[in-house]
Amino acid sequence: MSINVANCPRCGRIYAKTVKNLCPECAQEEEAAYEKVYRYLREKPKSTVQQVSEHTGVPEERILSFLRQDRIMSAEWTELTYPCERCGAEINTGRFCDRCNKEMQESLHSAAKSIRKQDNEERRTSYHTDTQRKRRG
Ligand SMILES: [Zn+2]
Ligand SMILES: [Zn+2]
Repeated sequence: MSINVANCPRCGRIYAKTVKNLCPECAQEEEAAYEKVYRYLREKPKSTVQQVSEHTGVPEERILSFLRQDRIMSAEWTELTYPCERCGAEINTGRFCDRCNKEMQESLHSAAKSIRKQDNEERRTSYHTDTQRKRRG
């Protein structure tokens, strides 16, 4: 049996891989940070990310990552907002605002469509050159 090892993305230490993507020490630290943020928000659900960071000592970036992973169900019981990763609009759940979610879905659709269209056009042009070549003999 081999042990799966990985480099902890936070501290760089090598650790035996578990379900967590951090080494045990960093995972514990992450949990503690999460607990602090969660507890503070329970008391003061109307805080901003900056205020939470100031009072808990947890960096804003870390708080944002909890929010973006939806670990803190902020939309349900806090008034926390943070910028959409795409356009910067204020959101309180997930990573993107409604508009960006919609736009991204639409652009995925149209990208798929334009690829299909290009495919057809290429086939048509190659058909044309084929017949032209034949005609020229
Ligand atoms: Zn670590
Ligand atoms: Zn957006």
